[in-house]
Amino acid sequence: MSKKFDLRVEVCQNVPLLRTVGDGMSKKLVDAGSSGEFGWHACELALRCPRLYAYKYRDVVEVVPEAEDASDPLPTLKLGFKPRQLESQSKAVGKPALSRGSLIHAGLANHYRRLQATQRGESADEWADPVEAIRLTVEEHPEYAPQEEEAVGAVRAYIANWIREQVEVLHVEEVFAAEIEGERYTQRLDLVVRERDGKVYVWDHKGVGRIDSKTISRYTLSGQFIGMRRLVHAVYGEEFGGVRLNLIESNGKGYAFQRCMVDPAPSAVRTFPLTVLHARAVVKSYSDLSVEEWPQALSEQTCMTAYGRCDYFERCRWGKQ
Ligand code: SF4
Repeated sequence: MSKKFDLRVEVCQNVPLLRTVGDGMSKKLVDAGSSGEFGWHACELALRCPRLYAYKYRDVVEVVPEAEDASDPLPTLKLGFKPRQLESQSKAVGKPALSRGSLIHAGLANHYRRLQATQRGESADEWADPVEAIRLTVEEHPEYAPQEEEAVGAVRAYIANWIREQVEVLHVEEVFAAEIEGERYTQRLDLVVRERDGKVYVWDHKGVGRIDSKTISRYTLSGQFIGMRRLVHAVYGEEFGGVRLNLIESNGKGYAFQRCMVDPAPSAVRTFPLTVLHARAVVKSYSDLSVEEWPQALSEQTCMTAYGRCDYFERCRWGKQ
């Protein structure tokens, strides 16, 4: 007999970041940060390789108090440690597609938040415009700077391409939070809109180098997308229409745009809460161990990926140096 889960899902309003723009004015920047240790990324790591999860979420670096900078956005004063996961922002160095994707994301988040403000009869100008949003993001992540121009071009071309789109903006980068048998599960969704057919759709922005059929089919069984379906259906019920990839192709030669439905996977959606609980159980079962003792995947499919070696390949091989 299959187990049923009735999820209670709460939508948490996006708390904007306040930033100073060129003329000294304070403007709001949509917070498009990750959903942290309660999100799908953490579950996926625990299922893929418990040691990889531990390196990302349990490994900590001691911080020498004298070295702290009052402007440091990381909570080192309170914790005394910086989780390595928060340091991963610097990993964008040498990964131009990742930097470009993050900047395009920041631009689109503010574009749609401004559109939402206008639709609600509020002032859109309280919010940084998309180009300002990209620039402010580069100020916080100077390692993204080489991709700024390309990202600004992509977002401008995107807005021009979809200038006639008619959707009601419902949620921009808001966190959908569920309780699954006492376990909190959260996902920050790029955008939720009501389209002209009256249905509610999740749009997930993806900056890609090239759009092809594999770009779309790889997401059918991605937990990130299965989770979106489960959470948004819990809030909107029969009004929920599905998940679209909002593809932005940008490769230095030009731009292309497409919106494609992600194929449904009802069986995976049904058992998704169990998948989350299993990932949490994996984490709990090793929580007393030191990071270097967590089990390793040791798989040529996992330690070597399509993008090259896992970041921790040498550490897993030789131990902590
Ligand atoms: S190298 Fe392999 S075993 Fe080590 S963390 Fe990466 S995926 Fe896990």
